[in-house]
Amino acid sequence: MIKFLDLQKINAQYADELKSATARVIDSGWYLQGNELVTFEKHLAEYIGVKHAIGVANGLDALRLILKAYMAMGVMQEGDEVIVPANTYIATILAISDNRLKPVLVEPDMNTYNLDISLVEKHITPRTKAILVVHLYGRVCWSEELEGIAQKHNLKIIEDNAQAIGAEYTPRSPKGGVNIPQSDAINSPIRGLGGFRTGSLGDAAGFSFYPGKNLGALGDAGAVTTNDDLLAEIVRALGNYGSKQKYVHKYQGLNSRMDEMQAAILDVKLRYLDVENQHRCEIAQYYCENIKNINIILPLITYHLSLITNNVFHLFVIRCSERDRLQKYLTDNGVQTLIHYPIPPHKQGAYKSLNNLSFPITEQIHNEVLSLPISPIMEKNELEFICKLLNNYML
Ligand SMILES: *Cc1c(COP(=O)(O)O)cnc(C)c1O
Repeated sequence: MIKFLDLQKINAQYADELKSATARVIDSGWYLQGNELVTFEKHLAEYIGVKHAIGVANGLDALRLILKAYMAMGVMQEGDEVIVPANTYIATILAISDNRLKPVLVEPDMNTYNLDISLVEKHITPRTKAILVVHLYGRVCWSEELEGIAQKHNLKIIEDNAQAIGAEYTPRSPKGGVNIPQSDAINSPIRGLGGFRTGSLGDAAGFSFYPGKNLGALGDAGAVTTNDDLLAEIVRALGNYGSKQKYVHKYQGLNSRMDEMQAAILDVKLRYLDVENQHRCEIAQYYCENIKNINIILPLITYHLSLITNNVFHLFVIRCSERDRLQKYLTDNGVQTLIHYPIPPHKQGAYKSLNNLSFPITEQIHNEVLSLPISPIMEKNELEFICKLLNNYML
């Protein structure tokens, strides 16, 4: 059987380094808030091209803490609105409602599955305080138009970068800021063509290092990145009981910290991220060139200097009007696939007040999408097999 994602095989590539990193942590006798975290935060900040990276417990907390910090700063208040794509993973929306802010769902673009930026402005009200963009499936969601809208209405832009670590946005016209050079030690020669990495585009970004993400820990972990000194300081305090100084509590915080073990593991895996993302792009390109079935809609691929840089293909998502039948056909032939996601947030029991809203594009996406296997360790013969199966499939 071809697995959707073989985590054992992915991590086995780095077994020696991972084992020596975990042994170092065990032997150190220091398991939280130590040097491993400091080192990983420094490397992550350099990799993304931002001033601050703060390790937290998971991706949901990363987003929760950003919003909580903005509330502590007085930028947002209970009941304020946050614009968010209607087809995101539910965690994005939980982060908003958990802070007693109001998620304002906006339809995605059918070609990119990302927030339709042209629809944003008409959803802005006097209570709108932020746009929470999601780089869904690994594809960058950003444009100069988006920057312009945020500036005009004085909104924060927060990135949910759980699925797109390593992806780059290349502006059409040069941005005002300087392009921070990415660390030579970490950056492979393949990627890094002078774009700006997701996680450095907005005012703040949340990352997930859930094991199945492109940069996966061996457990839960997440991070916040930002260039805002005050926000960074407050997020750090909020994740540690609202305390900057032991036993002095300025805020009503959470306990949301990245432990030393995960930090040490992630610091090893970060070095291989660009190579793994490059493999994902090559697999995606192979699929797009070799799947030839008019019943299957492939993801849109765009190139910058002949490389795919705006997408790290966390998922390779196709669409088919008879999705469930196609999935069964692949399962019966030994190919494991998943659906991201089968039920949109506004149809979930957790959000009864949203159940009556109608988002036709979002609903169509949830009815038609199917994610093919795309782990960086896939073999050519597996890809050939999957493409052949898909080409032989008839509605
Ligand atoms: C995975 C994910 C999250 C949540 O991350 P966790 O580490 O699982 O809490 C948030 N948003 C998106 C888009 C995700 O894919």
